[in-house]
Amino acid sequence: MLLRRRESWSGKLIRAKLENGEVVTLEKDCDCVIHEGPHWLYMDDMDKKLNAPLRERAMRGEPLAFKAFAEAELRRLGAKRSEMERRSITAILLEAN
Ligand SMILES: [Zn+2]
Repeated sequence: MLLRRRESWSGKLIRAKLENGEVVTLEKDCDCVIHEGPHWLYMDDMDKKLNAPLRERAMRGEPLAFKAFAEAELRRLGAKRSEMERRSITAILLEAN
């Protein structure tokens, strides 16, 4: 399938650094046509964007928004950490093709 080939339409390579120091490319693992790389990383990015309005409100000094943003980010980062640990990933690296 043409659209599953990252090279055919991607502007970015998504790489990861592993615990052993190796740098690997994170391959697409789903049939979505709206994102690159693994699905869990896309979902993390979506959650980050969903939390952005709360962050803006928190930055304006709304105490309840600050608490809600902190809780939402704790959930997002906890899930991301667990996905990364499962794959022995220590860092996500984005680079232009
Ligand atoms: Zn996907």
